[in-house]
Amino acid sequence: MLYLYMLMVCYCYACCMRLMSVALCLVLLLLCSSCSTSIVPITQRVQANSVSTTRLNASYAAAYHQMLASREEIPPIDSVLRVRTVGARLQEALTRYFAEVNKSHFMSNYSWEYNVVVESESNASCGPGGKVIVNTGMLELVGDGDDMLAAVMAHEIAHAIANHTAERMTDKKIQGAMNGFFAGMSSSSSSSSRMKHDANYLFNVMSTYGLMLPHNRFQESEADHIGLIIMAAAGYNPNANVALWKKMNAQSGNKSIAQWASTHPSHDTRIKQLEALVPTVMPIYNKMKYKER
Ligand SMILES: [Zn+2]
Repeated sequence: MLYLYMLMVCYCYACCMRLMSVALCLVLLLLCSSCSTSIVPITQRVQANSVSTTRLNASYAAAYHQMLASREEIPPIDSVLRVRTVGARLQEALTRYFAEVNKSHFMSNYSWEYNVVVESESNASCGPGGKVIVNTGMLELVGDGDDMLAAVMAHEIAHAIANHTAERMTDKKIQGAMNGFFAGMSSSSSSSSRMKHDANYLFNVMSTYGLMLPHNRFQESEADHIGLIIMAAAGYNPNANVALWKKMNAQSGNKSIAQWASTHPSHDTRIKQLEALVPTVMPIYNKMKYKER
């Protein structure tokens, strides 16, 4: 009798978990139906997006200008000119690329700006719509050679070109929907405590390891790849990207240097990935090098 009871409980539990999975799929399906898909330039990856690019670019541009206006310390003019010169060259390479693949209209989504802020942290970013910021701390880290600065900026520009912010916001929406679904399961009075525990566990595992972490890692690798192509097409030596990460690794004990590396984890595997990619973009660089230098 006890055996029969246990069998029934296990059967009911398995049924509930299966129903929960089906309901979750329906939630995700409904959510995905509100997403549109687009193709990431250069890598040609299909990505889901539920965010209006026009609205996102406009709100980011407003925040960007507000942040710049609030800065009290004016950066040295030569550092601003240097960042703008490198930025213009990377932008020109992108314009050429999109013209060659008959997608010049893609560049009209961007209103490029390159600025420097006085901050000791070695950080840089490029927000939606092409709003670039380089900290003076990053300029100190990369030193005098523009190849390494181009490696940093091309990586950041690649995030904007690949629409990674909108994609991360879409991920957050999916995570929020999953959160709501599992919160409903957990709070339901008819749910057993074991099921509540498993629902929470499933949510954490799925959202962290199934969605957010792989996506973040994937976006970083994609930005590395696209960034290498952009810098090579602009005539900057792609080997500088490997040198940059080796320098990051060598100086990782320095807190101000750890800032950029904290969002862009620097590991030996990343250096190895870049070392493997560099020979694939060298023909692009050599073509540019002989043409323009
Ligand atoms: Zn990055």
